[in-house]
Amino acid sequence: MSVTDEVIATNQPYAQNFTLGNLALPPARKLAVVACMDARLTVEPVLGLKTGDAHIIRNAGGIVTDDVLRSLILSHHLLGTQEFIVINHTDCGMLTFRDEDLQAKLETETGAAPTVPSRFFAFSDLEKNVRQQVRRIQSHPWIPKKIPVRGFVYDVKTGRLQEVAAAQARRKAG
Ligand SMILES: [Zn+2]
Repeated sequence: MSVTDEVIATNQPYAQNFTLGNLALPPARKLAVVACMDARLTVEPVLGLKTGDAHIIRNAGGIVTDDVLRSLILSHHLLGTQEFIVINHTDCGMLTFRDEDLQAKLETETGAAPTVPSRFFAFSDLEKNVRQQVRRIQSHPWIPKKIPVRGFVYDVKTGRLQEVAAAQARRKAG
């Protein structure tokens, strides 16, 4: 039995006990979260969110790509979310390589040089990466300035979230 078969098999008892069929389409707590796909980070319990509460947008690194912006813009304008959170985490796989090395390796191994993905968005500084993602969201002209966008690092060893101060506040403080 493949893992896919195993996990699909658990859907049957899940559906038998299902009670969430009447949730509204817009997220109840008007929140959207951008987070890394890391398997050790389960966003809902970390933030005390229930099904129907928030949009959770995940990818490798919790990077604000074009597609994440697409989702956030839809999340706010069509589905009414009013606050955004970005979550990266300690020990992220994106800290372990460089884009150009992986690209070269894959090209060598496969003999193909596809145009997508154009980048992997590996990074070497966790907090700097969080700040960059927050800025990407804040600076988009279709995302209203009144929307709070806050960035956090999740510690996979302790379960704690640490807020990443904005770059400007940091400079003033230092
Ligand atoms: Zn990660």
